[in-house]
Amino acid sequence: MITFVPEPHLLDSPRGRHWPHLPVPGVGTAPVPAAVDAVIVGGGPAGLAVASALWHHGVEDVLVLDSADQPCGRFFARIDLLRQRILRSPYEHHPGVEGYRDCELLDFARLHWSLLTPVERREVRMAQAGHRSVVPVDVFEAYCRHIIAGHHVDERYRRATVREVRPAADAVTVRTDTFAVDARFVVLCTGEERRLAPREWWGGGAPPPRVGYWDEPAAAGAGQLVVVGAGLTAAHLVTNALAEGTRVHWVVREDVERYQCADVNSSFFRPEGRARFGRVKWDDRLELMNRFRRASVMFEFRPRFQQAEAAGRLVVHRGRTVERVHDVPGDSAVVRLGDGEQVIGDRVALAIGTAPSIGEGLLPEAAVAARDGWPDLDDRTLAYRRAPRVFAVGAAAGMALGPAARNIDGHRVATARVAAAVAAGLRDGCAAPIPGLPDQVAAHV
Ligand SMILES: Cc1cc2nc3c(=O)[nH]c(=O)nc-3n(C[C@H](O)[C@H](O)[C@H](O)COP(=O)(O)OP(=O)(O)OC[C@H]3O[C@@H](n4cnc5c(N)ncnc54)[C@H](O)[C@@H]3O)c2cc1C
Repeated sequence: MITFVPEPHLLDSPRGRHWPHLPVPGVGTAPVPAAVDAVIVGGGPAGLAVASALWHHGVEDVLVLDSADQPCGRFFARIDLLRQRILRSPYEHHPGVEGYRDCELLDFARLHWSLLTPVERREVRMAQAGHRSVVPVDVFEAYCRHIIAGHHVDERYRRATVREVRPAADAVTVRTDTFAVDARFVVLCTGEERRLAPREWWGGGAPPPRVGYWDEPAAAGAGQLVVVGAGLTAAHLVTNALAEGTRVHWVVREDVERYQCADVNSSFFRPEGRARFGRVKWDDRLELMNRFRRASVMFEFRPRFQQAEAAGRLVVHRGRTVERVHDVPGDSAVVRLGDGEQVIGDRVALAIGTAPSIGEGLLPEAAVAARDGWPDLDDRTLAYRRAPRVFAVGAAAGMALGPAARNIDGHRVATARVAAAVAAGLRDGCAAPIPGLPDQVAAHV
């Protein structure tokens, strides 16, 4: 069997090109009304997809609330912090709206052919031919701006941190750090937060001074870095450190690091994969989520890591668990592994995954009705079963849609259901299920 391994140069697309764009009025400044039809909490790729879909449904009285300065601000800030230059998701995954023939990401890249590098053009041709391809972050960001402008998302966007979402029979009150607004429907698109280190590692609370999480800026130029974690984020931290001439210790819990193109089995991006997930009961879904949401790294990294390992610039500690992490004041940080070995570095970077924001801390506990860390959602509409005017799109919908829910493509599937339910609810004046969709797949609770 021939195995096709994509090459590392695909990882290096330029960033910061000037893309021609539609005129945008800028983030909305008009006073926030007391009541609107729909509030979207979170303006990342998922919130953008929902806002765009509602626009297609003719739902215009919408507010998008996010702590970041602009739509998708946190998404690109995280990506740029990691110096990630290409997306893991291919050209067909984009925050454009399912079922509407907008300009798609691939069309957008082709329209800007003259701005693409020869490598990027080759990837576009691969996508056109139906092969796996990589998307430059630069193209994706320009495309998001295009979607934002084309669907008037900027005008609906307000910078605000949401503190509380209180559902009532006829409306939902959303309280932010600066104002409150009532909405007939609310869609939570709050993404994921960093997964925190177990309490045992240093006793809980903030990490020791030389230890940091992946989404925190870190001082460059450590002589020796310890990276903990086995996913794409860890791979970027390792790559960046190697590029700076830093020696890296990489601690990987499994016996071997996993290389694969997509971060979940690609069948879960397709209807049959979702159907397979939807047919089974809660415990089996949980098992599928645990089995298929495991950390992995894109193939493109493998040759670089193999070379660095052979040259002794990268030491991979495979099949090792972390027991403790501590600082030697003024000197170094120490990671103690399960077998007693100590790995010492100038800094330790933790990339141990993310946890879905499922509405806890915003909605009342009874409305989230969390079980095994997942909210209780209606499979058809992704409404909270105990708060049917509130919906979830993104990682929080994992137990309804399967392992791809957190990905850009999963947002499109979730968005199609949620936007249809919100539009129907506004039209019919109630929190109605989507007409025409099959009854809930399995009594999984
Ligand atoms: C570095 C990195 C690279 C990734 N690459 C890919 C990829 O290539 N392909 C892919 O499919 N997925 C990728 N992912 C997964 C990725 O998280 C999702 O696809 C995407 O970010 C999810 O979009 P989202 O809108 O659900 O979440 P986010 O992008 O995190 O957006 C959520 C938004 O909600 C806001 N928010 C949260 N709580 C509140 C609150 N209380 N008040 C106000 N605002 C709030 C946040 O500020 C944020 O802007 C990547 C993730 C990371 C971290």
